[in-house]
Amino acid sequence: MTASPERLALAKVAFANPNMLRVRPDITLFMSRYMRRFRMKSAGRNLILHSHLPPLNSPAYRRFVSRHLVDRAPGPSHAQIAVTSACPQDCAYCYNKQRSGTPMDTATILRVVGELKSLGVCWLGLTGGEPLLQPDLVEITREASDGCAVKLFTTGCGLTPRRADALAEAGLFSTAVSVDHWRAEVHDAGRRSAGAFAAALEAVDVLKRTSGMHVSVSSVLSREMIRRGDVHRLLSFLAGLGIDEAWLSEVKPTLGAFWDDDLVISEEERLQLAAVQDAYNRGTGMTVNYLGHFEGAETFGCNAGCKMVYVDAFGEVSPCVFLPMSFGNVRERPLAEIVAEMRAAFPGQDRCFVNQNYRLLAAAGEHLPLDRASSLDLVAGAAWRPPSAFGRRLGARAPERARVAAPTATAIAR
Ligand code: SF4
Repeated sequence: MTASPERLALAKVAFANPNMLRVRPDITLFMSRYMRRFRMKSAGRNLILHSHLPPLNSPAYRRFVSRHLVDRAPGPSHAQIAVTSACPQDCAYCYNKQRSGTPMDTATILRVVGELKSLGVCWLGLTGGEPLLQPDLVEITREASDGCAVKLFTTGCGLTPRRADALAEAGLFSTAVSVDHWRAEVHDAGRRSAGAFAAALEAVDVLKRTSGMHVSVSSVLSREMIRRGDVHRLLSFLAGLGIDEAWLSEVKPTLGAFWDDDLVISEEERLQLAAVQDAYNRGTGMTVNYLGHFEGAETFGCNAGCKMVYVDAFGEVSPCVFLPMSFGNVRERPLAEIVAEMRAAFPGQDRCFVNQNYRLLAAAGEHLPLDRASSLDLVAGAAWRPPSAFGRRLGARAPERARVAAPTATAIAR
């Protein structure tokens, strides 16, 4: 049997990264079992397992290995930053819908990007709003890409070949265009924007012609779609687009309109989607990367507030994009201090924190995101679960206050 060019290239990468030999054997075994679920792809010079990890041959991945696998440092490895709140679309499930304030200027965004990297961030998602509406997006991408893997999440609206080339040249390794359905009218209705579907497909075409770009489509599944088995039809459609990766997630109970057990995915449904991902990845085409698998008990778990950080367009710092809680604003408090406080509050666990605790949001008050005091109160009263498989290997312990059988957990874990 001959090794593929990607496997040979990876062997060379491993050989050239002596830090990999310093990773504890049980963590190495965990990572190699995890990685076997995906087929590595090349995009330009990058070797990519999937786009939620830095390219395996990048400086960002070397930092991930040394800082988070060898040193097992406590800081975040992943972050998202909203580079603008402006957006031409109006998705019913948009996690930023209830956020407002004075937008960060470019100098603040660049400062925050630098601070996130100093804190250990190796993977940064640029989001919005619609990030393409940020005039300094190329400059932000260039700054962020120095030592960090940068992925763009976009509706695709207005993406030109010239902008795509400039972003790739600035170091952007992957772009996800949102496509939620194979039928244009369903996609457009969900985004309350006529022509959104056509714009997304046009952007996918532009990106496929962009040298070195890893092209993914981000699809947000409703629970109804999951129950109907629509994911198979959606994946067939996405594979037909000739993209590198389908990035799947499901609607989260971030907003009041979704605070309903019937709309929140069950653990059984999450496992079904993980099985669909694995089955798809045994084929030879597009990679399927299901966020619920990456964040599942059997893999990395929920890292909200410990290994994941979100900075919204107004500078408010949250444990993840789907958690409408703020632990402070980057213009009022040092980011390192905010992150340390969040980390103390969020130890990491084996299930999605917002799925498990969203009812506490409803009880906490009208205004979202919750302010720091309300966020700390909510965390103190939350249902906590044990660490994930990866968290246990990093030495995480179930919090003293773990209350697995709290009412919110039992209601949802049906
Ligand atoms: S709260 Fe849910 S969506 Fe947020 S990081 Fe945790 S698992 Fe992911």
